[in-house]
Amino acid sequence: MIAQRRALLNLLFVPLCFISCTNKLAWNNVLPTARELLTSSATELQISASSRDNQAPDSPSSQSLSKNKRGYVLARAALHMHSPYSYDACTSISKDQCYADLRSSFCKNHLDFVALTDHPSHMTELEFPKLLLNEPEDELIFQNGQNSDPIANRMTCSDGHKVLIMAGFESQMMALGMTQHIEPTPERRSEEYSKRSSELSLRLKNEADAIVVMPHTEGKGKTPEKLSNLSLDAIEIYNLHANISPKTRADELGLTYFSGLIDLLVYWVDPFGEQQADLAFLSFMTVRDVYAKKWDALIAQGQHLTGIGGNDAHQSLFPGKAKDGDKIDSYRRLSRWVANGLLVQDLTVSEFKNALRKGRSWVTFEGLGSPVDFDFFAETPNQTLELGDTVYLSDQTAILHAQMPTLHHSSPQSGVSPKITLKLIYVDTRGNESVIESTGNSAIRHEIKSPGAYRVEVDIIPRHLKRFVGYQKEITERAFKWIISNHIYAVSEPPPSSL
Ligand SMILES: [Zn+2]
Ligand SMILES: [Zn+2]
Repeated sequence: MIAQRRALLNLLFVPLCFISCTNKLAWNNVLPTARELLTSSATELQISASSRDNQAPDSPSSQSLSKNKRGYVLARAALHMHSPYSYDACTSISKDQCYADLRSSFCKNHLDFVALTDHPSHMTELEFPKLLLNEPEDELIFQNGQNSDPIANRMTCSDGHKVLIMAGFESQMMALGMTQHIEPTPERRSEEYSKRSSELSLRLKNEADAIVVMPHTEGKGKTPEKLSNLSLDAIEIYNLHANISPKTRADELGLTYFSGLIDLLVYWVDPFGEQQADLAFLSFMTVRDVYAKKWDALIAQGQHLTGIGGNDAHQSLFPGKAKDGDKIDSYRRLSRWVANGLLVQDLTVSEFKNALRKGRSWVTFEGLGSPVDFDFFAETPNQTLELGDTVYLSDQTAILHAQMPTLHHSSPQSGVSPKITLKLIYVDTRGNESVIESTGNSAIRHEIKSPGAYRVEVDIIPRHLKRFVGYQKEITERAFKWIISNHIYAVSEPPPSSL
């Protein structure tokens, strides 16, 4: 209540301060590349090079950063975004500006992969070069030579960073990285893409090499029983748009309809130059357990579904701009809040799909700061197993290794460290979830004894954000989810076919 009163008070002072107060906060609105988050040793290399010659350090090569990740590099992926080709993506802003904002958000957040998921209206009316946001300076990627449709578009940012853009759709299901439309006309596409069925999943996989996802699993009608018959590759285990939308909050997530709205408005106006608009969603952020319950139930049925985080960005929730010139729900802000870390061998379409099919990925709430040095894998006497792999307990002993992330040096700082907790979560063969280890230290080492699925979650109390939240200091003492990994699976015996 006190916080609410202070929020209202701040808003009342807006007319006094709106013209003269400027934002005094130093804020980095460009995220580091995902490769910089792979290992802190790379960060140390950068810092030592910088202090040695007192010049801006060169970025370390991707090759030098890939060594510690068993041949993988870390890539950052936005997996649910709406371009101006969705009917509802842009309000109070021109389509051209919206399009420019979208492309610029890819570069500012150093996204490596973008899977656009436009609504059938108007996605079905457009062909692939256009759906891929192709511009003359970009490079189209073809699978079967230039006589076929392009499957992706590679854009190069002004700093040389490259972004691979793919197209798909969101309707009753969501398709990522389609290589082509599966129907020839807009009418037939609209009819087909609006279905929710295993038949459509299989067509999308077979004819368009798509990753098929169930978005918005917070929906009450989306029971594990219904989801289990849809031949899915992945499900959303968080959706930022649903977390913000008053109706979804109330109807599906059990939250208060307008809670957090006044706090958000204060970030928007920022009357005293004390609140960073990128943190406007802090008061909304909560990962409800409705997602994990459905995910756990599906995994217990033997469905190794990859969990993904959707930012579901539309620039349409709020009119007007914040002091930094971006809309409060700008593409840049929303795709900074929620991204997916993918372990890939290279930055290609096929590796993007391999990582998602396998579940070699984790969801990161990077609006809280960039985590560096996170890792989760298993070791047996003979091999190293990655996320998505299965351990056979009758064959061998297996040790799980989880590595605690720290805050990247370019993330916001307030002279006080965040409190980070690393948790090993066990999902048993009936879908019951428990925390089997929790530590504030640097790592977890755990011998697998029981069949089931194991994932890691990292919580953060974001005290490092204290300087940027104005009167909302108490919110930086609250624990937020920072990372949710996919699973490493354990079964007693190998399946008969592999004996
Ligand atoms: Zn929409
Ligand atoms: Zn959406």
